[in-house]
Amino acid sequence: SESEILALQGDLKSKGVKYVVGAYVDIHGVPKGKFVPIDHFAHFAHGSELYTGYALDGLGQSPNDDEIASLPDLDRGIILPWNKEVAWFPADNTFHGEPYDISTRVALKKVLADAASLGFGMNLGIECEVYVVKLGPDGKSLLMPNPDDRLNKACYDVQGFMDRYPWLNKVSTAINDLGWDLYSLDHEDANSQFEFDFNYSDALTMCDRYVFFRMMARHYAAEEGLLATFMPKPFADKTGNGAHFNMSLSDLATGANAFKCDPKDDPRGLGLTPVAYHFIAGILRHGPAICAAMAPTVNSYKRLVRRGLMSYFSWAPVFNSFGTNNRTNSVRVPMGGGRCESRNADSACNPYLAATLALAAGLEGIREKLDPGAPQEDNLYELSAEEFAKRNIQELPRTLDEAVKAFAADPWVTKVLGQGLRDEFIAYKSEEWRQYHQQVSAWEIDRYARMF
Ligand code: GLU
Ligand code: MG
Ligand code: MG
Repeated sequence: SESEILALQGDLKSKGVKYVVGAYVDIHGVPKGKFVPIDHFAHFAHGSELYTGYALDGLGQSPNDDEIASLPDLDRGIILPWNKEVAWFPADNTFHGEPYDISTRVALKKVLADAASLGFGMNLGIECEVYVVKLGPDGKSLLMPNPDDRLNKACYDVQGFMDRYPWLNKVSTAINDLGWDLYSLDHEDANSQFEFDFNYSDALTMCDRYVFFRMMARHYAAEEGLLATFMPKPFADKTGNGAHFNMSLSDLATGANAFKCDPKDDPRGLGLTPVAYHFIAGILRHGPAICAAMAPTVNSYKRLVRRGLMSYFSWAPVFNSFGTNNRTNSVRVPMGGGRCESRNADSACNPYLAATLALAAGLEGIREKLDPGAPQEDNLYELSAEEFAKRNIQELPRTLDEAVKAFAADPWVTKVLGQGLRDEFIAYKSEEWRQYHQQVSAWEIDRYARMF
């Protein structure tokens, strides 16, 4: 109401806020918005800010179209921990006063409403993996900062962690000041790679936080003269940046976790309810299409390898499969049950789009009571092709091209996202692939220039 808007404006002003920004994301999950002086808050709150959609990637507009607007979510404002003069609100796009379909946060809200009609809310926890590197003298190349390359296996390394303590502590303090409840942080598998884990929440909130987190981590790294990079695979011989989606449904009537049961009551012994198995089966059914959204860049597919150029296995999934605590599956059930973890997702995903497809697939699984079969317990990286055929397990897409083709070939995607958003994703990602594939790389020159 108007009085609440006035009260919020007064509160922000008293805290020293000078600008508000209503941030929606483009199709890549990159936040976009205008900065509005706090004196114009009432206007802003009603969606005053207009955008020419053609200036944005994947918002489906031509230069001759009317502007789209952004309507800030006033309950979810954040004052930037590093600049208290700016308040950030996640925002939804509207067009002529109506929710705008070619917008990923709007798409997520639509499928969340569908879940609610079945009595479910979605819980989501995204694990935040990120590299912190130095930029070379050209301002672009990624350098492993000394002495981070002193070990072959850097996972859980305490010295490597302490070397980056100033940055880690700034990000962690900010996470806790925001009330996100950081519960763990560590040196990840690769040199200069770290992971932040904060408490799960409802899916919309978690997606808002992940988008904000990427910007925040980069900000504090820049303060230290470093680059926090969320590109999925910055170094061919080291592990990539995952953004594992830990998912469960809550029963809206009771608040209980609809995935959790005593392992003794689960014939498969994982501590999952039938609803959870249906959900997982839905995700597997649409696994290749969902993969395009969870791993949406050319570079993502350098991460989804058994070993690649690494000296050991990657921890990243290669198969559309489900299993126990076994990390070689794309959908894993961590010990104790009560949730499933989709390991396809990487740090370059648009979390709204990825969550939209994962949830919609899970709901289809529930509606059709699908079954995912027996959980895989082997090291899948080492199974033979015959064994995969026998178990009817398919590979995930091996390139962005394959992923986009799988996305385009699945008619269910159009039902979930609508024609407009589906077509935009395909157009952007096909062009991304085309541009990449037309390049002549240094590897090719090395390999072929003097060969014949
Ligand atoms: N960094 C790994 C990946 O690319 C995941 C490591 C882990 O299991 O946390 O997904
Ligand atoms: Mg990890
Ligand atoms: Mg994980």
